[in-house]
Amino acid sequence: MKALVSHGPNQPFSLENVADPIPGPGEAVAKILACGAGLTVQHVKAGRSPVPFPRILGHEISAEIVETNGDCGNIKVGMPVTAYFYLTCGHCKFCLINRQTLCKNFGGYIGRACDGGYAEYIKLPAKNFVPIPETLDIYKNPAEIGVICDAIATPYKVLRKGRVAPLDKVAVFGAGGGLGIQMLKMARWANCHVTAVDIDTSKFSACLEHGADICVNAGSNDAHEALMDASSGGFDVAIDFVSSTKSLEMAVASLGIGGRLLTLGGGVVLMQISNSMQ
Ligand SMILES: [Zn+2]
Repeated sequence: MKALVSHGPNQPFSLENVADPIPGPGEAVAKILACGAGLTVQHVKAGRSPVPFPRILGHEISAEIVETNGDCGNIKVGMPVTAYFYLTCGHCKFCLINRQTLCKNFGGYIGRACDGGYAEYIKLPAKNFVPIPETLDIYKNPAEIGVICDAIATPYKVLRKGRVAPLDKVAVFGAGGGLGIQMLKMARWANCHVTAVDIDTSKFSACLEHGADICVNAGSNDAHEALMDASSGGFDVAIDFVSSTKSLEMAVASLGIGGRLLTLGGGVVLMQISNSMQ
């Protein structure tokens, strides 16, 4: 098959002929229709995420199952699928309580620990393939459906983790970014009052178009007052896709009574906060 192979950080992809993947027991092979390029791919390309090279990157796929081997559960040949990013054991405590990213036997990420979707075919444990419902036409919109497993799944999980409910006042920090825009849409879908927060005011028209009721310039001197006005005294949920010290402080200060803060990324900053609170 043809594949875009990455041989190291800061190197262009190389279009090569490589061996077709052969599924082992419990594995399936899918024919790739489309594969997205999110931050996870960019981290590898820039050398921020070490992976064993050569490697076929990419995990935001839309694909059709073409081969299975042994017990593959509900995954059948001909089925339209996307992929679950994390390679987990499926039976440890954390897998069983839906905290798969804490899996005690964590195997890494698709497109890093194993080859990904920048190829004609991809081989994965069958349980990593997620069937696409018939109501979505994967052959008509393969690119849009491929990114659902990342750009839509993340905001959806935020809604659940944040216990976001209708009429909640929600602030999205970094709202103009790729995930932020999807978060605005999802918060709108959840019938919330949505405030977009960003330092790049050129993105505000897009934020309003995609679900924000109000936009607040986080770089202005009266940003906190603007957030208090937008939320009538404090948000129920603040979601921070920036997670810098400044954005986290601003997000915490914007919360009302019983408010929840969700932070995505920024682990170094979180560690600093944790240390300062000890
Ligand atoms: Zn596990």
